[in-house]
Amino acid sequence: MRELDRIVKEIADEMRRRTDRGEVATYIPELACADQQAFGLAVVDTDGHIAAAGDSDTPFSIQSISKVFTLTLALGKVGDRLWQRVGREPSGSPFNSIVQLEFERGKPRNPFINAGAIAVTDTILSGHQPREVLGELLRFIQFLADDTSITIDEAVAASEQRTGFRNIALANYMKAFGVIENPADFTLGVYFHHCAIAMSCRQLAMAARFLAHSGRNPDTGLSVVSPERARRINAIMLMCGHYDGSGEFAYRVGLPGKSGVGGGILAIAPAKASIAVWSPGLDASGNSRLGRIALEMLTQRLGWSIFGV
Ligand code: GLN
Repeated sequence: MRELDRIVKEIADEMRRRTDRGEVATYIPELACADQQAFGLAVVDTDGHIAAAGDSDTPFSIQSISKVFTLTLALGKVGDRLWQRVGREPSGSPFNSIVQLEFERGKPRNPFINAGAIAVTDTILSGHQPREVLGELLRFIQFLADDTSITIDEAVAASEQRTGFRNIALANYMKAFGVIENPADFTLGVYFHHCAIAMSCRQLAMAARFLAHSGRNPDTGLSVVSPERARRINAIMLMCGHYDGSGEFAYRVGLPGKSGVGGGILAIAPAKASIAVWSPGLDASGNSRLGRIALEMLTQRLGWSIFGV
């Protein structure tokens, strides 16, 4: 058994036994159905070897992790012009904060807080129908993961569409500043649906391999984005991927990462591996509690932090 397989299995076994699992998100009613006991971990290394343990094949709601893929598409579409609409500084605020948006005159701090992600979604929507954009995004993710079975969980999307009042407020507020170009309900419809994409840890780790390999798919050698763009997406993940918990994540795990309120975390060990972990219980910042702890163990045991051992 490879060392990586052994460590991944050990961590999953340790996580299974823990009782301090955090709280499952309930503000999107459908997410409250998640099994708090679930835990999955998958690591795809440079050889394409997948070390996986626990519920690593169970699809879960990727929620804000989808923002990594929408950011990639938006940068492909408009390049650096994106930064006129959205900043790239850490926010130090909760993911759904409204107050910061007023201070900054409708320009969201970064593409991963909800306001910023809604602005990014609006960018990829312009010139298209919502259905076309969702199809394009889903096909992009399926292509990256080499798996056409990945779908959108319509029940989760509908649940957020019914209850996403804060996001509706954020979109309308940005619309007042001209930051949103399309009808706000179209942009929100696409946003709620891409947050509702369901993927397993294995699928997610596969889909993000290009970020660990300077923008290339290591299997085919094909370029997904340029090396500079991959580096920059990783930088934004490191600084902003866990909202007001980003400093703590960098301190403890030391990898670019993106969390979602479904309890998933995607983490990138540059030139080493693409990693996905899932445990639905969240901490106070809305990040997976055991997911973060498992990643801390993994990087420590393998010496994978970008800051050294
Ligand atoms: N769809 C969720 C929301 O907008 C995503 C938040 C998250 O995963 N942090 O509230």
